[in-house]
Amino acid sequence: MKRNCVLLRYGELALKGKNKADFEDRLANNIREKTARFAGVSVVKTPGRIFVELEDEAPEALIDELKTVFGLVGICPAIRVENDWEKIKEAALELVRKQEGVRTFKVNSKRADKKFPIRSQEMNHRLGGFILGNVPELKVDVHNPELTLHVEVRSKYAYIYGNDIPGPGGLPVGASGRVLLLLSGGIDSPVAGYLALKRGVELHAIHFHSYPFTSERAKQKVIDLAQILTRYGGKIHLHIVPFTEIQTEINKHCYDSYSITIMRRFMLRISEAVAKKHGALALVTGESLGQVASQTLESMNTINEVTNMPILRPVIGMDKQEIMTIAKRIGTYETSILPYEDCCTVFLPKAPKTRPDKQVAAREEAKLDLERLVREAVEGTEVIELNPGEPEEEFSFF
Ligand code: ATP
Ligand code: MG
Repeated sequence: MKRNCVLLRYGELALKGKNKADFEDRLANNIREKTARFAGVSVVKTPGRIFVELEDEAPEALIDELKTVFGLVGICPAIRVENDWEKIKEAALELVRKQEGVRTFKVNSKRADKKFPIRSQEMNHRLGGFILGNVPELKVDVHNPELTLHVEVRSKYAYIYGNDIPGPGGLPVGASGRVLLLLSGGIDSPVAGYLALKRGVELHAIHFHSYPFTSERAKQKVIDLAQILTRYGGKIHLHIVPFTEIQTEINKHCYDSYSITIMRRFMLRISEAVAKKHGALALVTGESLGQVASQTLESMNTINEVTNMPILRPVIGMDKQEIMTIAKRIGTYETSILPYEDCCTVFLPKAPKTRPDKQVAAREEAKLDLERLVREAVEGTEVIELNPGEPEEEFSFF
């Protein structure tokens, strides 16, 4: 038995039967992937609980890694002992002594094994008294303690841990199926991708690249953003679509004020084809209402008309400031604000239509060899597989 472990809590409300088993299996596997690079660490699943077991105390880097696992609501570095009263007391005292600067505490015991001779209330009292007797500078505060000392007595072992470290919540990645994220180099779409991952999807990403109008550095920026998202989502396939010919054709043949609308219609057609090819069931964008010309409801209608696929817009209800706050927290912001141009800005019309008409859009598009352009773009798409690796930069979470 290893003495050190991290007890992991997850939201299991509303989960039953097979769903619950799938959820737990997937979560445990995701945790295994995330912790594989730590030596001597194993992930153990027991009914209702997942543990990370390790030789020594959990290092900060491991805890940081666990903070990125969707589905976890609490991360509790714990001491595990046999469920023997003397050993429990000893471990509780050891844990309390390690806390620095704590002035008030309470004990919260749980007796999952009813054969254990001391009831929870009784344990709370006895342990509280024992700790007060040994650490005189501490006081009990049952309403608002700085430290809650948790004791969980199970059939063989007891687990002693302090305050929960909050996990990111959400659902385990992969539990909700696959989606395709339209990833630009901006601030919004990486955040949209993160929020979609939080709902348990597996992510593919697609980026439209107009080389040489947009540079290699602009492409690298998007690769870097997708790489950051792998921290939360595991492996990500990034599809890079050659978009130069389409943009040139639009620019040459279509009404200037409709160029953005038509360009977006192309993006959706190509995205739908790529999504279908790779088993993705929905598209995700970083669109928000009213931010720019193409994000009015009229515009969304005209653009959306070309696909029947569900489009998820996780940031639709957020202000730019809120989106930026998340971008900073998840570590995409600094990359997003690098100044490399996006394909949308290259051919920016002088006066983009804010209420583009469906018929006009269709008529303008009909001037182009639509099918061929879409087909060739899909065929020419380059796929890059990104795997979670060492972070390039240090940044703190939550
Ligand atoms: P973002 O910050 O995500 O770039 P934005 O506020 O700049 O968003 P738009 O430029 O109107 O808004 O783009 C809306 C959405 O269209 C983006 O969030 C993204 O999902 C998608 N998109 C835009 N440009 C590209 C691109 N070059 N490749 C892939 N998707 C794109
Ligand atoms: Mg943008």
